[in-house]
Amino acid sequence: ILDVLYIDYDETLMAPSGADAELSRITTMEKHPNGYVAVVEGGIPLADEGVHCMVGGRAFKDVVREVCDGALATIAVGSCAFDGGLPAAAGGPTGAVGVSGVVPGGQLVSLPGCPLNVENLTATIVHYLTFNQWPATDGRGRPLFAYGGLVHNQCERRPHFEFGEFAAAWGDEGSQKGWCLYKMGCKGPETAANCPTTRYSDGTSWSVKAGHGCVGCTTPRFWDAMRSEERRVGEE
Ligand code: SF4
Repeated sequence: ILDVLYIDYDETLMAPSGADAELSRITTMEKHPNGYVAVVEGGIPLADEGVHCMVGGRAFKDVVREVCDGALATIAVGSCAFDGGLPAAAGGPTGAVGVSGVVPGGQLVSLPGCPLNVENLTATIVHYLTFNQWPATDGRGRPLFAYGGLVHNQCERRPHFEFGEFAAAWGDEGSQKGWCLYKMGCKGPETAANCPTTRYSDGTSWSVKAGHGCVGCTTPRFWDAMRSEERRVGEE
């Protein structure tokens, strides 16, 4: 049982760099076989032997396999680690996939979003530390506490949707009054996420509160599936 959280390897937080950083990773794995949690960020290129992302002189795909195979669990953070994200969008040359495309099987929790909401990562880890089990997830491995409801159903602009009050152009009267952004292409009605209630930056704001519609970034293959940002304008 994990009862204290140690962060032994993180490229942006750790003191070691270069070969020492890799040594920290290897030492951690050896000290805690099947007793550490791997948090993976970023798409994992498979094309051209994985040369599009190298870590310590090795293909990222090989490092991910090595680390996740020996992990108690893996948490895929962000849309790229979820299903390849932007590098996997149409036309991308890297052949990127998410963690499940490299490490099938095993305990995997996915936290898509672009960017990831760090509150959801913290909550997932604290859930495990508290209950010694991972939170309940949907069929894609997304925790229900964060991805169990539609953005649209939690949005503070929802009353304007119900009253037929919509922004129809960026900066117009409706936009300035905080009306619904559905006609500006907001993907909240099709997107499962807790952005309206959890928000970003210590609960400060989220995309719709800031005046831009939801882009559906927690949805599988959202770069292709949710494109055409303003597609609803002029549909009627
Ligand atoms: Fe729904 Fe988007 Fe309108 Fe909010 S702004 S009510 S999420 S369509």
